[in-house]
Parts: sequence; C-alpha cells; structure tokens
Amino acid sequence: MSGFSSIVGQEKPIQRIRTFLQNQTIPHALLFTGIPGVGKRHTAVQLAMACNCHARTQDRGQPSRVRQSPAEPSASAAIPCGQCAACRKIKSGTHRDVLRLKPSRSSIRIEQIRALQDALSVRPHEAVMRVVIVSRAQCMTAAAANAFLKILEEPPAETLLILTAPAAGDLLPTVASRCQRIHFSPLSRARLAQLLVQQIGVAHGQALTLAAASGGSYARALAMAENGWIDLRDWVVAQLAELSQAGPAHILAFADRLAQNTAKLQDIFEIVGSWLRDLLVVRFLPEAVVHRDRCEELAALAVKSDPDKLQKGFAALGRAQRDIQDNANARLTLTALMLQLAGSGRGADQGSTH
Ligand SMILES: [Zn+2]
Repeated sequence: MSGFSSIVGQEKPIQRIRTFLQNQTIPHALLFTGIPGVGKRHTAVQLAMACNCHARTQDRGQPSRVRQSPAEPSASAAIPCGQCAACRKIKSGTHRDVLRLKPSRSSIRIEQIRALQDALSVRPHEAVMRVVIVSRAQCMTAAAANAFLKILEEPPAETLLILTAPAAGDLLPTVASRCQRIHFSPLSRARLAQLLVQQIGVAHGQALTLAAASGGSYARALAMAENGWIDLRDWVVAQLAELSQAGPAHILAFADRLAQNTAKLQDIFEIVGSWLRDLLVVRFLPEAVVHRDRCEELAALAVKSDPDKLQKGFAALGRAQRDIQDNANARLTLTALMLQLAGSGRGADQGSTH
C-alpha cells in the first residue's frame, strides 16, 4: 500500500487533504492534532510527496498553488505515485526542500527555527512546493515559538508548513490560530483490532486487548504486538495472582526484579493499573474492559475481590508512579507498592497488610 491509502483509520482527515489537493487550495500552514501513533507524520510526508510528485505536476503542466480552473479539479490529484524521483527522495528524507524539524533532546530550540528561517530565505532547490514538517511542535521553547510565529505571519511563497501536536491547546494560541487544524482521532477499538488481525495475524481477543491498551494508537498497538506486550502482561498478571499468597521474601524478590527492569517499568505500571481497573469495572461495564482476552477470568476474580482494597491498590500505584518519576528509590517504592497490592488481592474475608 502506498500513498494516502497507507494511512489507516483516518478517512476524514485524508478526505480533507485530498480535497485541498484536488482544488489546489492547500493552506500555507496546517496543524495536525491527535495522540501519537495515529498517522500525523506519515500523512505529512505523503502530502509533501503529493505536492511534489512528478506524475501530478507534469499532468497539471504548471506547478502553482494557485488554482487555474476551479471547475476542473485534477483527476490525478489523489496521488503521490511513490515511484518518481521526488516521491522517493521525500520518502527517504533526502529531498532538499522538504525540511523536517523535531525536538532535539526534549525541545525545539530557537537555533533550529533560525536555521529554518535561513533555509526559507532562499528559493527552493528543486521543489514545486517546499514543505516544512515540524513534529511535536508543542516542544518549541517560547523563544522558538515566537520566532516560528514570524514565519507564519509572513509565509514564504510556495511553502507549506505542517505542524504536529497532541492538541491545538498545546501550542501558543497565536501559532495555532494561524494554522488550519486537521484532527486525527484515535482509532476505535473494533477498527484497530480488525487491522491487527488482518495485517499481522493477532488472535481476535488479543487484538481487542491491544487496541484498548494502546488507547487507539495504531503505531503503539503494532509496537506492542511486535514487542511481546501480551507475554509481559501474562507474566505480570501471574505475578499479581501469586502476590496474595506469597510471603514477604517472594514479594521483595518480585519488587527487586521490577526495579531492575527499568525499560519495561512504564508498561508494567500500565498493565497493573488497567488490570486493577478491569477488576473494578468488569461486573458493571464489561465492554469497557481493557484485557478483553481474559474477560472471563477477570469476572471470576472480581467476585472474590474487595472493591475498596482494589481502589486503594489503584491509588497506591499512582503514588508509586509519581514517586519514581520524582526519582524516589525504585526498589523501596516498588516493595511498598507490592505489599499494598498483596493486600488488595485478598478478599474481604482474608487478612490485609493495611
Ligand atoms: Zn511521485
């Protein structure tokens, strides 16, 4: 799959972009909003290709943004071809007039915007439409955002600026208001699960779980499937089940293992959180359960669980997450959390550590 058809689950934004191309009414600045992994950057690259694709520009005869005949939208505008020199250069990131900015470390700095201003002050080398893609534009420092605002206020000719950010409110209002906003929604669980089944052969129940746990992010769900997230989840859940029966030595050993596994710690927190939440909601809102492939087991466990203790466990999890973010000792924090969760796993008739 190539071109805009390679962007899945985003029919509305893609239709708007196709209309811009067909009517040759591409705005000077676009802001693509939405959670990570829903196709914003990929769409920006496809749009840069479509603006410069030789198949399209040769067909039109003249490469202007200005529409010549409003009554005759180009029939071939719904490309990029993906094959011509321009498309291939843009795809591989080597086109000199398609400039990509992203945070260096955690922010987009004023120096990066100044370098961009310099690049935009000269005529394009080869592009029909020069395209600037600013990924995670919310990471612009205040100075960078103000410098970027100058570019937006006096946009260079034949240049398209595309910003991506989670939401318009994450940018300076003066920057956001000068861009036409296109929102990329999270994919619905059903749609994302269907894609995972069709594209990478994930079993249906697990696909539903990945769709829910990824929050509707296609890229995240794919990465989770490929990185063995289901296996990690099964391991964490098995450990949680053992906690309530385990003695202190086992609990300490488990906390130690988690503390050493810093790369997976965020995933593990999310798994524990969604599992506890599922135990709370499965009886009342089964359709809201994240771990859909283990729904029956959740329902059986929920009957034996004390909602009050589950809620306390859930709160303790949030505190531990914050403490570790604030550089608290991971081993001590996780040990306290696991002792709390060991209590949460016990029914109302069993003992509790709290
Ligand atoms: Zn092409």
